[in-house]
Amino acid sequence: MNVPFDPLRVAAATGCDVAPVLRERGQREVFCGLTGIIWLHRKIQDAFFLVVGSRTCAHLIQSAAGVMIFAEPRFATAIIDERDLAGLADVDDELDRVVSRLLERRPDIKLLFLVGSCPSEVIKLDLSRAAARLSGNYMPRVRVLNYSGSGIETTFTQGEDACLASLVPSLPNEGNASERSLLIVGALPDVVEDQWKRLFCGLGMARVQFLPSRRAAELPPVGPNTLFLLSQPFLADTARALEERGAVRLAAPFPFGVEGTTLWLRAAADAFGISRFEFDRVTQPAAIRARRALDHYRAALLGKRIFFFPDSQLEIPLARFLAREMGMQLVEVGTPYLHRQHLAQELDLLPQGTILSEGQHLENQIDRCRTAAPDLVVCGLGLANPLEAEGLTTKWSIELLFTPTHGYEQAGDLAELFARPINRRTRLVA
Ligand code: SF4
Repeated sequence: MNVPFDPLRVAAATGCDVAPVLRERGQREVFCGLTGIIWLHRKIQDAFFLVVGSRTCAHLIQSAAGVMIFAEPRFATAIIDERDLAGLADVDDELDRVVSRLLERRPDIKLLFLVGSCPSEVIKLDLSRAAARLSGNYMPRVRVLNYSGSGIETTFTQGEDACLASLVPSLPNEGNASERSLLIVGALPDVVEDQWKRLFCGLGMARVQFLPSRRAAELPPVGPNTLFLLSQPFLADTARALEERGAVRLAAPFPFGVEGTTLWLRAAADAFGISRFEFDRVTQPAAIRARRALDHYRAALLGKRIFFFPDSQLEIPLARFLAREMGMQLVEVGTPYLHRQHLAQELDLLPQGTILSEGQHLENQIDRCRTAAPDLVVCGLGLANPLEAEGLTTKWSIELLFTPTHGYEQAGDLAELFARPINRRTRLVA
């Protein structure tokens, strides 16, 4: 019998919100927060990211972003060398010189982020003071902000969180208008942003804005009439900063897959008084297309066992999508950090008994993964090759940040990201 899909009915039958979580503290293997620059610099089109770091930081960014030498990149590294580390040079003076040269040469830059790194944290360089001083020099032409992308005790998606949180104090006040507005928070590919604009417009919601904006001059206003939806599960500091400005978070699962997208959109629609009938009328065509796209990949994923190493903080929403819409079995779902409040609706939807782990103890997790011998392992780049050499099939978690995966129109592509390595392995074995 073909039972119509009803996320709310299924939600009542499952739930993992009070399940015990295995807490891990040990050796870690993750990229640092500088990685976020790779997608953030594409999103904010007149921003520049100046990493204050070492040659290692410069290599990481250059190789990860794969910049062509004839392109004008919108990020660079101001190298802290031995003289700086030994306290022999005035780092502030050097930073001022670098910024002055950069802004003279690049009048297109309107927003400059000074991005801290492990070395700048180690020598306790006060980049917030430097950013305030430089902003004083260059405003209104260029706003200078700072955040840390250091890899000390953080994971790579926290770079985006830190960057967006640093933007929040600069957002204009929403003014006297009492009309409520919706703010979508998280750096999304333009194509996804445009799809959502059309959907919200179809629902009659005209006051919808995005953080970050595509241009520095278009930062969205914020205040007590702002309701916001997180589009990513790793934006804890940004959410806190918005709440401090009076904005109110709408609780929802994250918009991955048909179910997540429907519940996420519905949270906004309910808050703005859109009727269920109208909601279904506007969203159903895209939801039906998405379900058809998922059907295409279900055979490859159904019943397959998946193990998530903690890496991106996307693990729990993705596990929910793969278990409930694609029929995968969750062996273990690791996350670097479990924000119970922001993930409450996701935890409700996970199959009962799902093994969750928080934090990282690499050796223990590798042992558990080997013992479980899953069909697919989602992990960081550094783990993927050794695990493939042992015969396990892997998916790089960072790819999930580089690929448009949110919303109805991308649901099929999201499923394909997991089906592809399984199909490749099947062909190799055959
Ligand atoms: S910020 Fe730290 S972890 Fe990241 S590249 Fe620089 S030194 Fe390495």
